[in-house]
Amino acid sequence: MQTSVANSKPHSVYYILDSFDRIADVSDTWGETAPESDQSKSLKNSVVGGGLRDFVKGDEVIGFLNTLFFWCRFENRVYETLYRCDGPDTPRLFRMIVQPRPDEHILVEHRLISQTQRPSMGRAAPFFGPKCSICCRYNIDSVWVDPFTSARGDYQVTEHVFCPDCRDRLSSGLVAKPDDLAKDAS
Ligand SMILES: [Zn+2]
Repeated sequence: MQTSVANSKPHSVYYILDSFDRIADVSDTWGETAPESDQSKSLKNSVVGGGLRDFVKGDEVIGFLNTLFFWCRFENRVYETLYRCDGPDTPRLFRMIVQPRPDEHILVEHRLISQTQRPSMGRAAPFFGPKCSICCRYNIDSVWVDPFTSARGDYQVTEHVFCPDCRDRLSSGLVAKPDDLAKDAS
């Protein structure tokens, strides 16, 4: 069951990249999920001036984002996609919106669409495997499994990648109609 997030924070986190893909600014909500609120400012200050590698994991993910930013600038188009970014007991659905801005800057916004609080369950033996950065599934013994719909356990990520389904969807979005991806949420 998905629950409304109307009264929970953060609704939205964004960052702005300059023409060299350096972080020019981030929203005040950056780091708001940190346990101590005063970390937010120091986290914000620590990322401005840096690059994607400071907070995005996985070479394939960073490679895709670089391609996406180039595409947005070149085509001067907005790109949207849904992705999961789960908490330990909370599947969370986000929408990423990438918009070209003046002077070849890029605005990247992450909006929380829904989250589902699941009761905490005992942890079984840990599973280790690559994790898809879009759908949050893990590749366990060559099968992509959602930790919230499969047998619950302690899933440990060994590598941040894209699963074949998400890779196809993301790639086709760049050459076809990226805006259509947003319809998944309706
Ligand atoms: Zn995936």
